Amino acid sequence: MNVHDSEKVVGTLVQEGYLQVESVEQADLILYNTCSIRDKAEQKVFHRLADYKKLQAEGKKFGVLGCVAQQEGEKIFERAPHVSLVCGSASYTKLPEMLVQLEGKSPAADSLPANSRILASLGIRDSVDHDEALASLRTAHEGVRHSAYNLVRITGLDDRQTDKCFETEFTARTNPHRGYITIIEGCDKFCAYCVVPFTRGKERSRTSESVLAEAQQMADLGYTEIQLLGQNVNSYRDPSGNKSFAELLAAVGEVAGIRRVRFTTSHPRDFGRDIVEAIDAVPSLCDHVHLPVQSGSTRVLDAMQRLYTREQYLERIGWMKTANRDISITTDVIVGFPGETEQDFSETLRLLDEVGYDGVFSFKYSARPNTPALTLEDAIPEEEKSRRLEVLMARQREIQIARYKKYIGMQCEVMVEGHNDARGQWIGRTSQNKTVNFTVCGGADPVVGSYVPVMVTRNFPNSLVGEMRLKG
Ligand code: SAM
Ligand code: SF4
Repeated sequence: MNVHDSEKVVGTLVQEGYLQVESVEQADLILYNTCSIRDKAEQKVFHRLADYKKLQAEGKKFGVLGCVAQQEGEKIFERAPHVSLVCGSASYTKLPEMLVQLEGKSPAADSLPANSRILASLGIRDSVDHDEALASLRTAHEGVRHSAYNLVRITGLDDRQTDKCFETEFTARTNPHRGYITIIEGCDKFCAYCVVPFTRGKERSRTSESVLAEAQQMADLGYTEIQLLGQNVNSYRDPSGNKSFAELLAAVGEVAGIRRVRFTTSHPRDFGRDIVEAIDAVPSLCDHVHLPVQSGSTRVLDAMQRLYTREQYLERIGWMKTANRDISITTDVIVGFPGETEQDFSETLRLLDEVGYDGVFSFKYSARPNTPALTLEDAIPEEEKSRRLEVLMARQREIQIARYKKYIGMQCEVMVEGHNDARGQWIGRTSQNKTVNFTVCGGADPVVGSYVPVMVTRNFPNSLVGEMRLKG
């Protein structure tokens, strides 16, 4: 989600006249997009900002975007005084104005040529954490250096009040074949452990017309895969009243030229059977659903304020298992939520066996500011959380080995993503979102972005190995 936010920020600012640069060294303004979902991600932000401090002497300016910006607000200026701008995601529409303000108030502004912003440049680079991205902005007027002690402070900290979506027709997508479209922003669920409702504001959906226009625009540009994004795509409410989420999903799948449509994230409470019916009816909708469960214990789900029971969750799994297509299911799990007993944890392990997930993103519970779970007693010690995480990952590994084995001997359609020169293998992805590393058995090399048939010959816990077979 943050990666796509960064693509939209970059696209918008490039349209405003800024240019992209590749590295921090080349930048005059560094915009750092941040994630605060877990404490570790947040700590990383402050370490990175501390690293940047030495660059202040070179006249560079720094802005913090995203969830840490929204959560910490003006406190960031105290912890990292070299930062000039903090802007939460609900204020991105105002970012161009904020940058004008930043330049206008700069002590060096008088020395900037009138069109310096038009000659400015912006760069973006994904960091190790997929939730976090980095943007670097540079004024191209090489001679200009800002004061090292710039006291300008610009904030964009719209809270839950905003009704606006960050819509822009200028998105600097980093992949030419596969791209994201945000359909809903914010979240109204308030799960007891989660900062998102506080950092990303209230739920607001885009109209189905605007989403479909963007999908068409992407198809016209040659994109073949689209991923619809939202913290909870199932609570999508079309402001124009025309389409439910399942109808919008099907309509995007029917845009000429689009071969694959994915969506994330689904919330079990709002996940309707109509979504499974849409997947059955529209072949371009991928046969993969990511349905975060968080815990297999109804008691813990209740404490987490997840608004569903284990049984209700399993009912939704049942809809997918009885579908005509072989829908691959993945999930998120949190271990060590306050009060989670050994019995609760074993219910989560049993759920893994019962569902047979193709992938699990598992996390140790991390206490977050403002969240209701902060006041819960019976915190689980860090070592015990680590132990449970290891047990869960080991169990899931076994499940995945068994599940991935069943693909041996099957032919899958794979979208080619690139080539691993060291291993001499091509890399691709199936509709079920499984990574396939493959070699070419006679014939020409495949083109990145194309769809090719691959016969699966081996499996690992997280990937398949195969040989590309010539069509016909
Ligand atoms: N909106 C999605 C949902 O409802 O599942 C995902 C939100 S979050 C960006 C992705 C995952 O991070 C969650 O599914 C949850 O497993 C995990 N997560 C969120 N808050 C957490 C916390 N305080 N500690 C540990 N994991 C957390
Ligand atoms: Fe966080 Fe829950 Fe909203 Fe997902 S649904 S973003 S976990 S509050």
